[in-house]
Formats: sequence, structure tokens, C-alpha cells
Amino acid sequence: MGNQITFTVDGKIINAAEGEMLLWTALDNDIYIPHLCGERNEKERPASCRLCFVEVDGRPAPMPACTLPVSEGLVVKTRSERVDALVAAGFELLMSNHRLDCKNCPANGNCELQRIAKARKLRLKPKNLPVLDKGLPVDDSAPGILYDPNKCVLCGRCIRACRHSGNGVLGFTRRGFERIVATFGDLPLGDSGCQGCGDCAEACPIGALAKKA
Ligand code: SF4
Ligand code: SF4
Repeated sequence: MGNQITFTVDGKIINAAEGEMLLWTALDNDIYIPHLCGERNEKERPASCRLCFVEVDGRPAPMPACTLPVSEGLVVKTRSERVDALVAAGFELLMSNHRLDCKNCPANGNCELQRIAKARKLRLKPKNLPVLDKGLPVDDSAPGILYDPNKCVLCGRCIRACRHSGNGVLGFTRRGFERIVATFGDLPLGDSGCQGCGDCAEACPIGALAKKA
């Protein structure tokens, strides 16, 4: 563990180990920063969801908190006009490619998208962009797991969890709007070698991969 250092986030003085990523130190201190793809104990930091932006004194542009190591005297603001605009635009883009059906969703009430929308006063339903539905079938072929690719926001957490479980049957496939998480060869989960451990569903921060009720 690095030396203990002191810095501020939104005026709150925080002590943490030097070099820890800002996102986790802020969350540990009850300062919420929107995030989807980052995971605390993962070496891999994809910084792909583009939601955890913060302003740092002395830096010309907002930076992702998941890849920002904390250091002595750092002065951070989690909100500014620029940050709010970036987060709102990123969130709207994600939601324009998400099948929104909270009432019937296994994650309803425990969903990171709902949390972000509430924290930043954003609408779950996009205001400016049309919603594009992939129209893909829901995969309920694996024991205990339900996968709705139409809800997936491509954070990649299930892929890492599946790899760590020793199965490694999940990966990204296709490009652009078509991009999805799928098994190799695009087989239904139940035919893919999936062991039904459920680690992917545990890792999914929303309702795209869930344990069957
Ligand atoms: S994943 Fe979250 S936002 Fe999407 S339908 Fe489910 S509960 Fe609603
Ligand atoms: S299924 Fe869930 S965990 Fe996997 S990439 Fe999509 S949103 Fe992320």
C-alpha cells in the first residue's frame, strides 16, 4: 500500500493511499461518481463507459476518475458544467441503445443506470436521441441465468467475471451499434460451455445478465 496522502474532493478532505484510483476513494467517502465499467480489484481499467469524469485543478479538461491516481494536494470537483454535459451526453447515448423496461426488469431498484439517473437528475428515456432496439431474443438457455442483450451497455464486467471463473465463454462480438456480449460462435449460453456459476450475473451492474428468479 502507498503512503497515506491528503487531497480534496468537492471540498471534503480525504485521506487515502497514494496511487489509489480517485473513483474508489471518492466512493469510500460517500461521494458518488457515476460509473459502469470500472471494478476496484481489476488491473484492467477499460475507462470505456465515459461516465466518471471529474474536474482536476490544473488540468485543462475533465478526466475519468477510474484511471486517475490520487496524489498529495489534488483538488477535485465531481461537478461542473463541462462534467455534467459530458456525463449527460454519455448517459443519453447509452440509453439510446438500451431496452428500457424497469417494471419487468430483475434489476429494478438495484440498477446502476437508475442510480446514475437519480444522482445526476437525468432521464432514463433519452430526450434528444432516438432509441434503437437491437430486437435480439432474450437468452434463457443456461441454468439459472437470463441474458437480455437488448439491455446490455457493454461495460465488459461479465466478460471479466466469466474469465475469472475459469469458463471464459463470453466476449464482445460485432461492431458499432451491432456490438454485443456473446458466447464464442454466438451460441446460446446453454450450449456454450457455460457452467451456470452466475458470476456474470453478479458482475452485471444492470439487468442485462441476471439470475433467474
Ligand atoms: S437495466 Fe435498469 S434501467 Fe434498464 S430496464 Fe432494468 S432496471 Fe430499468
Ligand atoms: S451484460 Fe451486463 S455486465 Fe455484461 S457487458 Fe452488458 S451490461 Fe455489462
